Amino acid sequence: MEHIRNFSIIAHIDHGKSTLSDRLIQAVHIVADRDFKDQILDTMDIERERGITIKSQTVCLPYTAKNGKTYSLNLIDTPGHVDFSYEVSRALASCEGAFLLVDASQGAEAQTLANLYLAMEHNLEVIPVINKIDLPSADIERVREQIEDDLGLDPERVILTSAKEGIGIEDVLEAAVNFLPPPKGDPDKPLRALIFDSHYDPFRGTIVHFRVFDGRIKAGDTIQFMSNNARYKVEEVGIFQIVRKPRKVLSAGDVGYMIAGIKTVSDTSCGDTITLKSNPCDAPMPGFRESKPVVFSSIYPVASDEYEDLAVGLEKLKLNDSALIYEKDSSAALGFGFRCGFLGLLHLEVVQERLEREYDLSLILTAPSVQYEITLNDGEVMIIDNPSLYPDPSNILMTREPYIRAAIIVPDRYMGAVMKLCLDRRGINRNYQYLTRDRLEMIFELPLAEVIYDFYDKLKSVTQGYGSFDYDILEFRETDLVKLDILINGERVDALSQLVHRDRAVERGRRACEKLKEEIPRQMYKIAIQGAIGAKIVARTTISPFRKDVTAKCYGGDITRKRKLLEKQKKGKKRMKMVGQVEIPQSAFLSVLKTE
Ligand code: GDP
Ligand code: MG
Repeated sequence: MEHIRNFSIIAHIDHGKSTLSDRLIQAVHIVADRDFKDQILDTMDIERERGITIKSQTVCLPYTAKNGKTYSLNLIDTPGHVDFSYEVSRALASCEGAFLLVDASQGAEAQTLANLYLAMEHNLEVIPVINKIDLPSADIERVREQIEDDLGLDPERVILTSAKEGIGIEDVLEAAVNFLPPPKGDPDKPLRALIFDSHYDPFRGTIVHFRVFDGRIKAGDTIQFMSNNARYKVEEVGIFQIVRKPRKVLSAGDVGYMIAGIKTVSDTSCGDTITLKSNPCDAPMPGFRESKPVVFSSIYPVASDEYEDLAVGLEKLKLNDSALIYEKDSSAALGFGFRCGFLGLLHLEVVQERLEREYDLSLILTAPSVQYEITLNDGEVMIIDNPSLYPDPSNILMTREPYIRAAIIVPDRYMGAVMKLCLDRRGINRNYQYLTRDRLEMIFELPLAEVIYDFYDKLKSVTQGYGSFDYDILEFRETDLVKLDILINGERVDALSQLVHRDRAVERGRRACEKLKEEIPRQMYKIAIQGAIGAKIVARTTISPFRKDVTAKCYGGDITRKRKLLEKQKKGKKRMKMVGQVEIPQSAFLSVLKTE
């Protein structure tokens, strides 16, 4: 164990974490140079394109230090977005240390601090790294001061790197050896290993990623998950070096994987403890924050004959993403689809993108909703997240909606802007405190429904990117809800309905009508768009038809021509959905929620 170091690199997005990880991997020569592609740990296409890391990846770096000894440096990659903070937490729980990367020209930013707090919560040894020192705009001294004053870290420890130019890479490896503590634990005690991730391999089934805290695990052992007492026979254990490298045994301090005939990823849960059936440990590892879906939306294929493909796509995604939940759903306007639960909006977008890209589907997502608790006059309590299940208001005794406790960290010059944003979203300011000279933590209680759509983007924009946001779910609180319907040419389009607070309903109805007017292209005839609460119309707009001369050629029911057009469209990616007589573009379904 003296020769093991388990650590993560944490940073604000774009400060160079992936690039530095690449350099570390190159430095220890576990991948032949000709096989090397940039950002080797970001395996999903979406991660590469957007430059965000979603699934954490681990790599074991064999490193011979200047002291002549060879070490196993386990680098555990972490994602960098609030939706995925449970994954950051999981990864950090398996580490003893972390490198905190700060961009030499940008300085510390919101997520730098948020990630530092997470690392401190896990009692990690944190080593500051100033990256991008090659940039002409690098201001190393200012950032060094910030590290001391704002982050409270030892400026003497700072390592200077340029991940891009490969400067300071060896200093990082040496610091891991010399300044990060080796893991503690006892290989002779009963097995206690913590699951921090799992993924699905089409050939081998579920691959469980874990950190061994005590004991040993090897092929042939019968293991037991402490949460549900499920037992499996271990087929293979090993370590990650971009590819899986089987090992005879993993023992206290090691980070690696296990294959044990586990059918789907949902049979394992991150945060669970693995022990041995024959010699179990007495207490599990402290668990993590559970990852529970909080945002719900329905997914429909634009072309109804793609329903089966959508079903297959979801099933496959689910193998890798245990946080995703779904069940069958149907809509009068959109046909058959699935009601899905997500961790947050980014999670929703990632799932949508992966389905569209990897399974070549064109999808419609309905307005995301939280779950509401509705008590009926007869005492029955129902939990609903789908506007189509909203009961007749005259039967409702009380409705309650989920609240969150939001912790927002910002430089104090943005205090007023953040306050306004949160009060506008029905928030209650509970508390604030200075963390450093000019950085503030503000605590709000907010209805979850008010943050799911564009709150995070808004926070970013009113704080010029400096606001960080983290939340915990509190409880359900009483609220006054109504169902806002949208009628197109007099027809209620169920997929456009949403549940909104009564005080917001009229304004929301107006916005939704305006948005739809922008989104729906002109057609042959006039289109009336109305917002309604029950029988009462609260907003309306109209889209005027094409002028006659433009449409003369295809107007008048040239059926064959129309059909040809339709078929042609079917071949390409379909982006429009016929609802009644009106073609509604895919993007319109989410636009009804936009607040501006
Ligand atoms: P991540 O979001 O923290 O993983 O950041 P990336 O590693 O994806 O880097 C973000 C951007 O910064 C990329 O365009 C990198 O090429 C660039 N970058 C990373 N390290 C350096 C560096 O040391 N110097 C310079 N000039 N650019 C860098
Ligand atoms: Mg990255």
